Amino acid sequence: MTAYPNVKMLIGGEWVSEGGEGSFAVINPATEAEIGRAPKVSKDQLDAALAAADAAFPVWSGTPAIERFRIISRAAALLRERAETIARVMTLEMGKPHGQALAETVGAADLMEFLGEEAKRQGGRLVPVRSHNLLEQRVMQVPIGPAMLFTPWNFPINLPAKKLAGALAAGCSCILKPAETTPATAQMLVECFIDAGMPSGAINLVYGDPAMISEHLITAPATRKVSFTGSTAVGKHLGALAAQGLKRFTAELGGHAPVVIGESADFDRTVAACAGTKFRNAGQVCVSPTRFLVARGIYDKFVAEFARRSQEIKVGDASASDDVDMGPLAHAGRVAAMQDLMGSLGGEHGEIVAGGSVIEGPGHFFQPTVIANPSADSRLMTQEPFGPVAGIVPYDDIEDAVSIANSLRYGLAAYAFTGSLDESHYLGNSLRAGMVAINHFAVGSPETPFGGTGDSGFGSESGSEGYLGYTETKLVTVAKSAP
Ligand code: NAD
Repeated sequence: MTAYPNVKMLIGGEWVSEGGEGSFAVINPATEAEIGRAPKVSKDQLDAALAAADAAFPVWSGTPAIERFRIISRAAALLRERAETIARVMTLEMGKPHGQALAETVGAADLMEFLGEEAKRQGGRLVPVRSHNLLEQRVMQVPIGPAMLFTPWNFPINLPAKKLAGALAAGCSCILKPAETTPATAQMLVECFIDAGMPSGAINLVYGDPAMISEHLITAPATRKVSFTGSTAVGKHLGALAAQGLKRFTAELGGHAPVVIGESADFDRTVAACAGTKFRNAGQVCVSPTRFLVARGIYDKFVAEFARRSQEIKVGDASASDDVDMGPLAHAGRVAAMQDLMGSLGGEHGEIVAGGSVIEGPGHFFQPTVIANPSADSRLMTQEPFGPVAGIVPYDDIEDAVSIANSLRYGLAAYAFTGSLDESHYLGNSLRAGMVAINHFAVGSPETPFGGTGDSGFGSESGSEGYLGYTETKLVTVAKSAP
């Protein structure tokens, strides 16, 4: 049995176990048992973290890029070494199966390495001059300044790792506020950076009341950059706060990803990939496939096979057994949200063909659920479910499928499965989303940008963009000395 760590904040290089506002309970969502307590930050402690990040910024941004790379790369190596323990703590905190937690942790180390390496690669550019009098025009990407990083609980290592490594590689100091559901996982990640040699104050870590913390940090004069991953509603609010101070803002928000399945797709592989991916992390994934648009000729067969596969998924307490495909939802609020969604079904709003119920007993469990024929204006088809629920509707021609896919304000990920090259080209061009994957579901890799459009936010993480988002453009132009 993995021991749950003593949860501490990191403020100005000191590990702090006393919260100025007391403490809060951390709950195992599979058992509803309290597994530990975390300190709740006060405004005074936030001010200390801000002062530390502000003071560390000139030190860290002045550290040679190669040294920043070395420290981030060492942190990645430590994360790999500690992955097994960190993954067990992640499962205790938010319920995902061990294999998924381990893959996320090792994948985060790859992300950190890539973003650290960007510090060595992103040297700016020289622009040819227009007159003999000019000697050089140098365009540089310089670090913006102290960055405030807000991350949710669904990927408690991957999301903080992307933000921390991007910000730190670029030379920004930062304050991380991870989800209160998963504080120890974030702490163990930050420990890797500290043990790798980060200077004091360049990373700070706080938890507590999210609304108080975000408002205090975003409006603080020292803050120059804000990066948030979470719901669209909260993202709009934090974006408005950042805009008031003209602070740069990256928003990675919700999605409601369509999957267009053509008649020419390889049926068996497609349905296996769809049912497998839908219930990963209990559907609590911003790029989770949620609206399955299936060619009418294969619709009935697809629904039946998807439902059959969903009923084979082993749901259980992944902190007690590794033989689990899907764990609990992260907290009681997510179960209530699923029940509420089920209440909106019936008639034209869709028919439950598998699952649809809470699993009784301790823990926040909900059955893998498949809904057939929800109408285009049903709640399921218009609002992000963020849970183990799939809606499946038939389409008659591919243009109709694209029009349904593009009908929402969300635009994070979109997917398609087809055996036709023409169709794949058409779908790749016409699906409106920040990321389109055809014949597979993998949209996240260290080297490629991850981000959305519309109500799914703006700005990208990972890839070169994940580094550049923490920089601003500066021109230095030099003329011959004045005559
Ligand atoms: P929630 O909105 O209460 O919390 C989601 C996350 O946002 C939590 O980590 C929370 O600490 C943080 N948060 C909430 N209010 C905040 C504020 N004012 N300032 C800073 N951070 C704040 O909802 P929930 O039930 O826990 O999660 C479900 C919703 O969150 C879904 O609608 C989903 O879209 C969204 N979500 C999105 C992602 C993503 O990857 N895009 C991840 C997790 C949750």
